[in-house]
Amino acid sequence: MNVHETEKLYAAFEREGIGAADSAENADIVVLNTCCVREGAETRVIGNLGRIKKLKQSNPNLIVAVCGCMTQQEKAAEMLRKRCPFINIITGTYSLGALPQMVKAVRSGEKFILDLSVNEEIPMGINEACRSDNVNRFVNIMYGCDNFCTYCIVPYVKGRERSRRLADVKSEVEGLVRNGAKEITLLGQNVNSYRDGNNDFYALLSELSAIDGDFWIKFMTSHPKDLSGDVIKLIGREKKLANYVHLPVQSGSDEILKKMNRKYSVADYLRKIDMIREYIPHAGLTSDIIVGFPTETEEDFAATLDLVRRVRYNNLFMFIYSKRNGTPAAIMEGQVPEAIKKERITRLINAQSEISNELASVCVGETFRVLCDGRGKNATGKTSDDRVIVFDDGGADLYNRFVDVEVTSAKNSKLYGRIKV
Ligand code: SF4
Repeated sequence: MNVHETEKLYAAFEREGIGAADSAENADIVVLNTCCVREGAETRVIGNLGRIKKLKQSNPNLIVAVCGCMTQQEKAAEMLRKRCPFINIITGTYSLGALPQMVKAVRSGEKFILDLSVNEEIPMGINEACRSDNVNRFVNIMYGCDNFCTYCIVPYVKGRERSRRLADVKSEVEGLVRNGAKEITLLGQNVNSYRDGNNDFYALLSELSAIDGDFWIKFMTSHPKDLSGDVIKLIGREKKLANYVHLPVQSGSDEILKKMNRKYSVADYLRKIDMIREYIPHAGLTSDIIVGFPTETEEDFAATLDLVRRVRYNNLFMFIYSKRNGTPAAIMEGQVPEAIKKERITRLINAQSEISNELASVCVGETFRVLCDGRGKNATGKTSDDRVIVFDDGGADLYNRFVDVEVTSAKNSKLYGRIKV
């Protein structure tokens, strides 16, 4: 999401004739587009500001802007201003597009601009973005979230759920496909609750799948309570929808899921998984898991391990629970000691590695259609179910092209293959 916001920021600057510099050292303006979803990202911002302070000392005309959702948190702007008085602009997630104008104002003599205004309107028309030449192209379909999972800061900093008009999303995707895009990833905090009038996520996917061209569509993130059977069946029968579902479960314990306010039980979740397996051949499944949520007992964690072994995900994104100030979980009793969290995540990583290795080894001998996103002897390509295969492109430039690759070996869950002729 943040990568795509940055692409939009590039576009806003380019419209004002301001291009990208090759490094912060060679820039006249430095923009830090922050994210506060994880503690680590926040810490990195502070570290980067330390580096930028030195640049500002040697070039007092350097304009420093900090934007994105970190600034939207209570007292964050105050803290940034106090710790880094050299910052010229602090702005939240809603005013990103106005950043070039703020830069102009600073150039004309304004010392400091703070804009944390909240504007939940969806911009009409095509959402222009300066996309990098990455194979994967992001398209926002909605913003914000209404779910209020108790560990998550997003609803407080990104506002209520609001969807873009279907016609706008469709024309953006058509434009990208016309320009050669082969992989489109639809973005939203909770894509399954997309709604534009009577059009829901199923309607949106149906419309986008009808666009002419050889491309596939992926999306993230799905909330298990909102992923409908109709959408699962549509993915199964519609070739343009990739066979990939990222379905964050977060925990395998009903007790913990309730405390997380996830609004589904383990049984509900597993029913969706069974349906995915039934209707989507060769579905690639991935998930997010938080280890050490407040009050998590050894039994709760064992239930998570059981679920992981039952589902057999291709890949898992595993996180140690970290407090986000302002969320209900941050002040819950029963915070789990760090040492226990670390020990549990190690066990989870080991369990998942074993599964990933087994799933990778059964791919040997199979041929996959991959979208090539690298070049050279170690070119890479992604399959429809989101596996990565490494192969030698033999000097042919296959970047952003579909090719058939036969898997010849698997090492530590990584797949290696050769182009099938
Ligand atoms: S659904 Fe996702 S974005 Fe929304 S509150 Fe829960 S974890 Fe955060």
